[in-house]
Amino acid sequence: MSAIADVLVLGGGPAGVVVARGLAAHGLDVLLLTRRRRPAAFEGLAGRALDGLRHAGCVHALAAVGVEIRRDAEWNGAAFGGNREWITDRPRFDAALERDAADAGVRVLGARAGHVEHRADGWHVGVAGAPQAAGWRARFLVEARGRAAPRQPLLQGPPTTALARRYRLPAGRPAASAIDTFDAGWAWFAGDGSEAVLQFFLDTAPALPGRSTLAAHHAALLGRVPALAARLAGATPLGEVHARQAQTLLSDDLVSPSHLRLGDAAFAIDPLSGHGVFEAVGAGLAAVAVINTLLRRPQQAAAAMAFHRERVAGDGLRKARIGRDFYALERRWPQAPFWAARSRWPDAEPAHAPAAAGAARIVRRPVSRDGFIVEDAVVVTAEQPRGVWQVAGVPLVPLWQAWRGAAGGPGFVAGYAERLGVAPAAVHAALAWLRAHAPVAAGD
Ligand SMILES: Cc1cc2nc3c(=O)[nH]c(=O)nc-3n(C[C@H](O)[C@H](O)[C@H](O)COP(=O)(O)OP(=O)(O)OC[C@H]3O[C@@H](n4cnc5c(N)ncnc54)[C@H](O)[C@@H]3O)c2cc1C
Repeated sequence: MSAIADVLVLGGGPAGVVVARGLAAHGLDVLLLTRRRRPAAFEGLAGRALDGLRHAGCVHALAAVGVEIRRDAEWNGAAFGGNREWITDRPRFDAALERDAADAGVRVLGARAGHVEHRADGWHVGVAGAPQAAGWRARFLVEARGRAAPRQPLLQGPPTTALARRYRLPAGRPAASAIDTFDAGWAWFAGDGSEAVLQFFLDTAPALPGRSTLAAHHAALLGRVPALAARLAGATPLGEVHARQAQTLLSDDLVSPSHLRLGDAAFAIDPLSGHGVFEAVGAGLAAVAVINTLLRRPQQAAAAMAFHRERVAGDGLRKARIGRDFYALERRWPQAPFWAARSRWPDAEPAHAPAAAGAARIVRRPVSRDGFIVEDAVVVTAEQPRGVWQVAGVPLVPLWQAWRGAAGGPGFVAGYAERLGVAPAAVHAALAWLRAHAPVAAGD
């Protein structure tokens, strides 16, 4: 056995690195095991992903984020959206993430995890391809190997394959990104001015052609998206066409008192959302308190595990329904298998309960506070089924009770802000939210 740690994190993508940094900041000895294997690929990072990385202190990853552009999207034959995104070279970004982990005192090991086993003395992880004796042991295991993580899927979307090719662009092209659809899928072009990637998202079945004919298949698909193909005029292909699995997947076995799944290893969202990295960073940030609680306050393990399950599984289903509704907006090929399957999966339930489905309610739920998961009163609304605990740093339920008790008398906001040590504007913001939702407690 070559190394022992408090926590062993498998996978050094955004989810694994953010949680590893957070746990190290809590004084835990963290070992991060990762192998870099991603094909050369651009991804478009959402602004909220950058906010999350900032919050997590990932300065190297932020420095590796690429140019900001406005995405041109064609959906159902019309211009759509115009979201901003940051075109980012993923292998560069991943290498920067590893430096962020090391800077936080995480021991980073570039190796491939092999056999994983839970024994009486903790988790044992072997090095792939090495003798059995080599490996690592830890009290707690974080599974963050992304889509490569072994799993039992609880929910799986229509099988989807992404076929990507990288190109060198002629000089003088602006940075750009664009989406277009066709009867058998959709495609994303992203270029940083000197290089570009064109990626198709297709049904995995019927069987794709073999590796040797992928390039010809990719070239033929280009003819289906002429507006995107025009952006590649004069470009030179670089390297091979890569296929990546891109199906939506929700895993079983999300958490136990000694392990937790995170990021794509827990819930791999449809890349159409453009939010995979944002979700992974957010998951890493949220999991720090869950693991800290499981290791240091085991008497609160049930609340910590419920918090993680609700966050991943409850949200996962809602996001799958939001994706379904977006696919349904493309109405030109309702009978085509690609669109028919995705505009019906996972079910016919609404993504959000109608706002009139009931008043906002005050209930007790596990919340993340001061580095631990604790039970506290939150306000549950149709849009926020997991509940909102605070707005602008002001806990909502005590404020609501105090405001109603004082009948919102003169000087209430200034006095409350002073007692809480926050700016009056924060109390105003929290009160405005409460007035808009007017929550009722059980017994009101
Ligand atoms: C085709 C495609 C396009 C996408 N485009 C976008 C996009 O434009 N914008 C966006 O925000 N998201 C996009 N995503 C989603 C995004 O890539 C993921 O959601 C995000 O990277 C998840 O982060 P993670 O940390 O959970 O996993 P990952 O980033 O996948 O990290 C997992 C890490 O574990 C390592 N690993 C795997 N196996 C082992 C092993 N045995 N031992 C050790 N290490 C291992 C991997 O090499 C990797 O470094 C896309 C996904 C796909 C499939």
